[in-house]
Formats: sequence, structure tokens, C-alpha cells
Amino acid sequence: MKKYFLKHKMLLAAVILANLVLAALSASAAFILRDALNVALEMNLSGFRNVIVISAIYLPIFAASRFLVEVLSAKLGGKIIQKVRHDVFSGIMSRDMTTFGSVNSADYISALSNDIELFEKNYLSQIFLLIYNVLTPIFAIGIMFYLSPIVAGFVLLSLVLLVVIPSLFGKGLQSKQEKLSGRLSLFTIKNKDIFSGFEVIKSYQMAKQANKDFAEQNKEVYKAQLSFDYIRGVTVSLSMFLGLLTQIGTILVAAYLIIQGNLTGGALLALVQASSQISMPLQMLSEAAPMISGSKAVVARLLSLAQVEDSPFGTDTATFDEAISIKNLEFAYPENDAPVLKNINFTFEKNKKYALIGKSGCGKTTLTKAMVGYLRDYQGKIVYDTSELHALSEDSVGKLSSMIHQNVYMFDEDIAKNIHLDKDYEDADFRAAIDDSGVAQFLDNERTLETQVGENGSNLSGGQRQRIAVARALTRNKPLMILDEGTSAVDRLTARDIETRLLGKEDLTLITITHALDEDMLSQYDEIIYMEDGTIAEHGHYLNLVSQDGSFSKFLAMSAQ
Ligand code: ADP
Repeated sequence: MKKYFLKHKMLLAAVILANLVLAALSASAAFILRDALNVALEMNLSGFRNVIVISAIYLPIFAASRFLVEVLSAKLGGKIIQKVRHDVFSGIMSRDMTTFGSVNSADYISALSNDIELFEKNYLSQIFLLIYNVLTPIFAIGIMFYLSPIVAGFVLLSLVLLVVIPSLFGKGLQSKQEKLSGRLSLFTIKNKDIFSGFEVIKSYQMAKQANKDFAEQNKEVYKAQLSFDYIRGVTVSLSMFLGLLTQIGTILVAAYLIIQGNLTGGALLALVQASSQISMPLQMLSEAAPMISGSKAVVARLLSLAQVEDSPFGTDTATFDEAISIKNLEFAYPENDAPVLKNINFTFEKNKKYALIGKSGCGKTTLTKAMVGYLRDYQGKIVYDTSELHALSEDSVGKLSSMIHQNVYMFDEDIAKNIHLDKDYEDADFRAAIDDSGVAQFLDNERTLETQVGENGSNLSGGQRQRIAVARALTRNKPLMILDEGTSAVDRLTARDIETRLLGKEDLTLITITHALDEDMLSQYDEIIYMEDGTIAEHGHYLNLVSQDGSFSKFLAMSAQ
């Protein structure tokens, strides 16, 4: 966290300097009070005038330095928050697909909202308070020793108690805050899940259950907050008690010294003022210190998210001029020991068209994900022309392929922007992509390229979203396209139309994961790859496979029943 403060050294120095001036001014108010009371007791009118002049100079300077502290702290705090937020976001963006997917995305949102808020309230604001509250007592103690070493000695002693006792609660506060942050995160995850599944909830009459689940989560957040506030309450009240004890004790010791004739009335007032400049800041400190140490978990979580992940990718530039060859490929998801892909050997030749077929769960999507670099921990080799995937840079691999899933993500922008995604494109490519994808077919006077698609494309049908996704991929002229049930939400006629257009694109390597087993479509593919239980059971042209009467034929026959 230090680096975030040190990044703005000048501003930090200015904050400390302004606090130093303010603390000195706060503590030295004791002298004005001392003189005021002494000149009153001595009935000294000219001395009284002097005190008024000094006060008139003192007060505006005090107000100005207070203002400076506020403004400079707000500026430094704002810059630090902005940078932490930026780093957390960049850290998340640097993750590869697998690491990103291992955490629920709502957890990231919670870090950027809830955790940042906790960080600002319980850590950063407290650190700024800490600066002033450490400096003021130092000046005040100096003044007290100057006025009366005996009283100062007493105050120092009680200060030790004031600092030590509340700090014993730091650990408890830390674990409560950790729990609270975890609860808030779970709360956000659950709610995101509920809102994302709103349609399912409505159509399956789950609203009552959702309300019940929400109420439970809400209660848990309340309980976590309460148990945090409880310990905080104990530390706050304890430190207030000790603070008051110090103040009353100081007056009693000073009063005794006056009775003995060793102290003036004005000095007593000054000592009381100085002791309040010690006890109040220390009371704030004893509240702030456990809050700061209690924020360790939140700070650690933010810092770990802010860490830019070492790229698991290499630096070589990927090419796909000839083929992508897969050799002895094995892969298991980390949560599952059993491999999902087993001993896969296949060469995808450039510009050929492949249909990937097999029962649901046999590994089709996993195979394509591995091919385009989404999955890193595989055994065997995935070779782009002559280079193994691990040696290639993420960007250069990404430039070669596009993947179109069943659920296409749409940004809340217009149709055109959802297609070109802010990247430069050739007009001719853009027009061709709109035509080839079938987007052109649903554009008219009402729905144009400038029409907003709504949150995740809610103003469009599933078919229209998928056509936009196909156009998105075609605009980039990427040589490999993977259509993962990509046209399933389109009516069969439109799906066939899009598929036929893609099959007709000579400079495109197409891998279609399909469940539509129409003979006239499948026979247009160069090869059918039939997968069974994580392996390629058969491959070849549709007509050859059908004539072989092997496992693919059996699958077709079973599917037809
Ligand atoms: P297909 O595309 O043929 O339907 P998938 O490749 O999606 O099959 O899935 C193959 C197997 O891997 C299935 O058993 C599935 O449950 C499992 N699987 C898929 N994705 C994950 C994941 N992210 N984590 C763990 N298991 C997964």
C-alpha cells in the first residue's frame, strides 16, 4: 500500500506539513487560554488587549490551515482511491480466461464497489486522521512539560493505558471486518444471480423463494455488520472512558499543585486545554488504529486483485498459414480429476470446413477452447503451423480466431458498435460481414445500425444477437471461426442460410459444433469429426462415415429415433 502513498510524494509532504502546522496551532491555543485567564486574575487591561490581538491573528490562521488539511487530504485520498480502483480493474483484466472464470464475476464487482468503500472509510480516512492525531499530542506534551513536568508525567502515564488497552481489540475487529467483506461479496453474487435469472424466476414462479433467499442473505449481512459494530462499540467506549479519566486526573493533579502554590490558575487552564489536545486525538487514534489493522484483509484482497498476472502466454507471433495440429492432447478441468479430453490427434487444415459432432458433454466445446488458447494446463501439443501454443502471445493467437457461443454477449451500445467493437475496419469488410451474417436482413427503417441493443441485447431476438456475433467475427477477417451451436437460436432456415454463406467463404476455416444433423448441410463440410467421451471416435467426409456404418452412423440412427 506504501507505493500508493509514495506515488504522490509532493502531495503527501504537503498533507504532512499542513497537519504539522495545524497540530502546532491546535496545541498552542493553550498559551492563549493561559494568558487570558492570568490577565483576568491580575486585572491587567493592557495584557487583556494583547491577548485579543493575538487571538485575532491566531484564529484565521488556524481556520485556513484546517481548510488546507481538508483539501489536501481529500486530493491525496481521491488520487489513491482512483489508482487502487484502476489497478484492481487492470489486474482483473490481465487474468487469462481460466483464472478469470474461477471467480464469480460479481465478486469482482463487489471488490470494486464494497471493498473500495470499506478501504476508503476504514483505512484511508483513518490514516489521514492518524497524521493529525499523532502530531497534535506531541506538541501538546511538549507544552505540558514546559508548563508543569509533574502534570505532564501523569498524563504520559495514563496515555500508555489509553493506547494499549483498545489496541488489544484490533485482531477481533480484523476478523469481523473480514467476515463482513465476505458476506457483502456473497450478497452481491447472490443478487447478481437472481437478477440475471429474472426470466427463469418469473416463469417458474420462484419469486417467493428468491424473496426468502434474499431475506436470509440480508439478515446475514445485518448480523455480520452488527458483530463488527459491537466490537467497535467496545473499543470506542473504552477509549472514551480512558480519555475522560485522563482529563479529570489532570485537573485534579493540577488543582493540587495550585493549592500548594506551585501553579497559576492560567497554567491550569492551559494544562487542561493541552491535555484535551492529547486525550482527544489519542481517543481518535485508539479508534482508528484497530480500524486500520482491521482493514488488512480488505487491503490484501484489493492488492492481490491489483496484481497484474504473469501472462501464461509466450511472446512469439502466431500464424495460421497451413494448419493447426493437435497431438496427444489431454485435458482435465482443475475441479475434476477425470480428463475431459483424451489422446486427441487431429490436424485442422487452413480454409477447410469441419463439423464437430457428438453427445452433449463429450468435450466438443472444451476441445475448441483448448485450440484457441483459453485453457493452458493441457498435456500434449497444439501447434499453430510450426509453433506450439504455449510459445505464442495471447494477442496474436486471439487475432486468428473467433468463437461464437450460444449466449452471445452484447454491449449496451448500438448495433454497429456491437459489430466493430470500436476497432478500425474496412468499409467493404463491414458491409460484407453485415450481408454474410444475415444482419442486413433484419435492418429496416425502424431498426438501423444506430439502433441501441439494450442491456446485453435485450431489444433483440436471440437470432438477431447471433447474427450480430457472426458479423462481429467476419468484420475482423479472422481466418478461423468456431461456431459453438452458434446458430441454434436462429430459425432453421436462417441458420442454414448463415451456415451456407460461411461454408462458401473460401478463406475461412470453419469449425461448427452442431446438433443439427441434416444430411444436405453436413455433406457440405470437408470433414465430420465425431467425438465420444473425450476422444475423436471417427472423422472423415459425411458420406464416407455414413457408408462405414461405424459409431457416427449409429449415433445418427439413434438421434433419428
Ligand atoms: P460439449 O461441448 O461436448 O457439450 P463440454 O466440452 O462443454 O462438452 O464439456 C465436457 C465436460 O467437461 C462435461 O462433463 C462438462 O461438465 C465438463 N466441463 C465443461 N466446462 C467445465 C468447467 N469450466 N469446469 C469443469 N468442468 C467443465
